Amino acid sequence: MSDISFILNELGEERQQYYQATVPPIFQTSNFVFRNVEMMRNALKNESSTPFYTRGNNPTIDLLNKKMAALEQAEAALSFGSGSAAVAAAVMNNVQAGDHVVCVQKPYSWTYKLLAVLLAKFGVQVTFVDGTKARNFEKAIQPNTKLLFLESPNSFTFELQDIAAVVKIAKKHNCLTIIDNSYATPLNQTPITMGIDMTVHSATKYICGHSDAVGGVLCSSQAMIDKIFAGEFMTLGGIISPFNAWLLLRGLRTLPIRLKRVAKTTKKVVKFLKDQDLVEKIYYPHDKKNPQYDLAKKQMKQGGGQFSILLKADLAQTEKFCNSLSRFLMGASWGGYESLIFPACALYDSANYANTTLPYNIIRFYIGLEDADLLIADLKQAFALIE
Ligand SMILES: *Cc1c(COP(=O)(O)O)cnc(C)c1O
Repeated sequence: MSDISFILNELGEERQQYYQATVPPIFQTSNFVFRNVEMMRNALKNESSTPFYTRGNNPTIDLLNKKMAALEQAEAALSFGSGSAAVAAAVMNNVQAGDHVVCVQKPYSWTYKLLAVLLAKFGVQVTFVDGTKARNFEKAIQPNTKLLFLESPNSFTFELQDIAAVVKIAKKHNCLTIIDNSYATPLNQTPITMGIDMTVHSATKYICGHSDAVGGVLCSSQAMIDKIFAGEFMTLGGIISPFNAWLLLRGLRTLPIRLKRVAKTTKKVVKFLKDQDLVEKIYYPHDKKNPQYDLAKKQMKQGGGQFSILLKADLAQTEKFCNSLSRFLMGASWGGYESLIFPACALYDSANYANTTLPYNIIRFYIGLEDADLLIADLKQAFALIE
């Protein structure tokens, strides 16, 4: 296993090839040209690993792929223009009409859409299961089940799946496994070492870390990556731009210290929230009262910055509480420098999220890089307004 600081600082950095520049250049080019037919022919033999055309390979993007694969302890990786593009390529490559997928319930909203709506058009069926019990995956397996899709912890309510137990079931039934590892990142959870076949990431979140680029990454075996490259990657063409890949490389450099800081601040904010009369419930894997706390400690190296609370309040008070926060910005996404809230009641009346089963008084939090004291003071004044 490569040391993380070696991966982040040295792996794949070929400084002698670009004037000993500390930071790799952005290869902002669509095309690469050849001096003779033989050179062009050789490049085409290996389009996934040779600069030929940027939809296939580009040195800036390739460096990101190398580092992400090494972090996940996977053989290879491919980057995409968004996390959703990576999820779609991983799933679509491995199913066809007549196949069945078992997915954890309440995954990321557009993963749900992919499985329940888009793939249904092509004759692929899906069953969503409560993933807190691994045996629910097994119960849902049918003779035509090809794929088990995990997201641990999942979005909004942060339930875990016992990765090792689900992998065991998958192997027994000859199914492939994909996990969305965005919440934990490969620094806090390495599912491939636990037998998972593919990890997918919204790199927009922690990997970017600065809320200024959208991207996705898929890590797997070389054989799987080659198959996806020749299939969905090149034909659907959902690639990341060299500039955004460069921003993700920059984000990666500080990932360990950002994650450590976020874990520490989140612990303080969660502790404060747990003492509030107006907080009915807290959904945080690393809260000692969480029924899955032991599993969280077993699977993940440290806590993340996302959790949700259930507020003891009616809809109007819930909205007032959210509207009164000023250090917490209100929006989607997470993983950047800024703390955020996402009130579930904002999903109501939106056609794209009509499947939401979240109660109106659940609020998702992301803790960024601000001081805990500032965030807690902001929460205090908002609670005082609705008491
Ligand atoms: C944001 C997110 C995605 C989608 O990623 P994009 O980069 O926005 O396409 C997928 N999974 C999870 C868990 C996410 O939070």
